[in-house]
Amino acid sequence: MIPYNKPFIIGKELEYIRQAVESGKISGDGKFSKLCQSLLEKRFGYGKVLLTSSCTDALEMCGILLNISEDDEVIMPSFTFVSTANAFILRGAKIVFADIRPDTLNIDESKIEALITPKTKALVIVHYAGVSCNMEKISAITEKHSIALVEDAALAIDSYYKGKALGSFGQLSTLSFHETKNIIAGEGGALIINDPQYFERAEIIREKGTNRAKLFRGEINKYEWVDIGSSYLPSEIIAAFLYAQLENMDTVIKKRISLWNLYFQKLKPLQELSVITLPILSEGSTMNGQLFYLLCNNEKDRNNLLDFLNQQKIKAVFHYLPLHLSPFYINKHDGRSLPVTESTSGRLIRLPLFYEMKDDEQNYIISKIFDFFNINH
Ligand SMILES: *Cc1c(COP(=O)(O)O)cnc(C)c1O
Repeated sequence: MIPYNKPFIIGKELEYIRQAVESGKISGDGKFSKLCQSLLEKRFGYGKVLLTSSCTDALEMCGILLNISEDDEVIMPSFTFVSTANAFILRGAKIVFADIRPDTLNIDESKIEALITPKTKALVIVHYAGVSCNMEKISAITEKHSIALVEDAALAIDSYYKGKALGSFGQLSTLSFHETKNIIAGEGGALIINDPQYFERAEIIREKGTNRAKLFRGEINKYEWVDIGSSYLPSEIIAAFLYAQLENMDTVIKKRISLWNLYFQKLKPLQELSVITLPILSEGSTMNGQLFYLLCNNEKDRNNLLDFLNQQKIKAVFHYLPLHLSPFYINKHDGRSLPVTESTSGRLIRLPLFYEMKDDEQNYIISKIFDFFNINH
């Protein structure tokens, strides 16, 4: 079986884990956490970065930092991972789902303003497949209506909009280092804080509601319970692994982009024959090779292609199921249909794409897709 994803070691991951253990401290916020955080801050121009145990954790921290409560509404796409919504549901918010654009599968910026009410507290956007949302229009909307902007940049590390790193637009943004993402730590994530008003409270929430970070810096001589919070920080073993990955980010992403480009070039003839649709880059956006998807013409074709590829020992997979139709939310949703989300999610397939993928594996996958459509190549 060619897997959909395969974790990899690219540099000093194991050596750094050993160093962390031998240093006598493997709980959170040691040397490797700080190295990861400052690398991300410097490279991408982020305000401040705090490592978390997952992107889910970082999103939950956003819900707390924005003081989201039962009276609030949060707008986000329905075509996203459950964590984007759960983080705000946990604070009691009502989620108002927006439809996506048919080209990039990102939130449709022209449909946001109609959803804003006096109760709207935040807009959460997702850069699908690492391709940017229309940040000019979106930033203008959140500024005009004074609502917070959160970027779920789980898929978007090292991708840019008009030269500015994704994750640097939101007051708060999040990254994921889950094993399926570009840069991995098994489970891991980061909260990016671009608005300084949240710096101090973010540290406290992440350390169980205490001001322990201030104690570590020698600013106080005992630490106390000062706010709500949880344990959102990863151990130094995770941070050590992650730091080695971050040091090799350029190599990983370059490889993934070249795999992505090869899929795109080789599958183009199928798009010209109108049997599939390939991804599109939005204006001003770069791409980071995070995932390669294609859209079939209908759900039946998609399911048949998935079955066929799985029979050929290729682990192709679908992606997000619309959250507004999920068993948990369908009765809480306001009943609006989201036609693009509903039609797209059932037609999408992601192809295997991982750092150690071999040319012959990729060529085999491409040839099987041509076989499925009975087209010679
Ligand atoms: C992967 C993903 C998450 C969750 O990331 P974890 O690190 O696994 O918590 C959240 N949002 C989006 C858009 C994702 O793709």
